[in-house]
Amino acid sequence: MSVSPAAATSLKTASNSIVIVRYGELSLKSKGVREQYEQILKNNIQQMLEYHGISFSKIQRDFGRIFIHSDDPAAAEKAALVFGVVSVSPAYSCSSKPAEITALCAEIGNEMIQDGETFAVRARRSGNHFFTSTEIAKQCGDAIWNKLAEAGKTPAVDLTDPDKEVFIEVRQSGSYVYSETIKGPGGFPTGTQGKMVVLLSGGIDSPVAAWLMMKRGVEIIPVFFDNEEYAGSIVSEKAIENAKVLFSWMPGRKQKIYRIKNGEYMNKMMQTTGPKNVCLMCKRFMFRIAGAVMMKEKASGIITGSSLGQVASQTAENMLSETYGLSLPLYHPLLAFDKTEIIDIARKIGTFDISIRSNGEKECLAVPEKPEVKAVLTAAVSEEEKFVFDIDEMIQKTVENAEIIEMKI
Ligand code: ATP
Ligand code: MG
Repeated sequence: MSVSPAAATSLKTASNSIVIVRYGELSLKSKGVREQYEQILKNNIQQMLEYHGISFSKIQRDFGRIFIHSDDPAAAEKAALVFGVVSVSPAYSCSSKPAEITALCAEIGNEMIQDGETFAVRARRSGNHFFTSTEIAKQCGDAIWNKLAEAGKTPAVDLTDPDKEVFIEVRQSGSYVYSETIKGPGGFPTGTQGKMVVLLSGGIDSPVAAWLMMKRGVEIIPVFFDNEEYAGSIVSEKAIENAKVLFSWMPGRKQKIYRIKNGEYMNKMMQTTGPKNVCLMCKRFMFRIAGAVMMKEKASGIITGSSLGQVASQTAENMLSETYGLSLPLYHPLLAFDKTEIIDIARKIGTFDISIRSNGEKECLAVPEKPEVKAVLTAAVSEEEKFVFDIDEMIQKTVENAEIIEMKI
């Protein structure tokens, strides 16, 4: 293989190509918890890279940072998908000797700064060195200036509003030079905040609700209700596809989806419940079943996509009546979100196009023309009293008959 003279002298090689990973809130934890969370974050990064087929030689933890040794151009972008990551930068490393730092900066600066563009060098430093961050920034600025001039460009520094910025991070064990920072989702690493059941439908909202809780470190167990003869054929397809998209945000794990057939409950409930309260009673049954699955799976909460006032079942009065007398840890992360805000997140996380798919069918045939919007406190309880079947037996039977779809993503 022939090597061009430029490549042979480059200070940027496959072996010093690195991704700097920064994380936020977990660095505020006590030492023991932080170590544990950092280890989980490191494993989650590894799983994300493997899932996307990114090659790397090593992932290393070092005082408030994680370093991925990889020259794969997609490594940074994929690491930026991991929950708990605040930002990442594709970088090149060198020793913390000023001569090496300045030479690397000069090469990187010359590559990215075009003739006529202004630049600035930003340096930060941790550890013991015989220079300050301002001094090394100045030396690197000079080195870039000289290199640009050598290359026939007109160098110009602008520290307030530069066209291009070169960043240096000097640490005890080595230094890193980079020009780009990609934002991560933030939050906590998946698996640090236990497991929760999510009531996942084929709609836009519930996948977003699940994702927001995943961002805070929760692993999810999707529970999907197939209303059988009342449901459009596309609904369960969409719910399962959305679950898969959500799983791809926390890859490398065995996952399961509960598909609950509740046609029998719907039929029996509708014998005594008038059309007005059907949605109320359908939702209350979903909560009860989700509670049973939560106990079975040793999970610690139930997530829904409810957003206050969005539809009939989500008025404050109805939400109270639906849960009145039940003791369940229900979480509604979208309660205070507007639909446009929810849609923005759905697009970003990759569920929107699945959720809006339609085959022209009505998605739920049990929804009446005029559902209750201002249920009285005890409405749902009163409806249950009229049931000609035993609700606890129905719950047990429904959970026992659930289809559990297992997969590894
Ligand atoms: P989404 O957009 O999430 O489908 P929605 O706008 O259809 O919600 P509702 O039908 O009132 O609103 O549902 C509110 C929440 O109840 C949903 O976000 C979801 O958490 C849960 N839910 C609704 N239908 C189902 C279903 N078939 N299976 C599981 N959960 C459901
Ligand atoms: Mg909704």
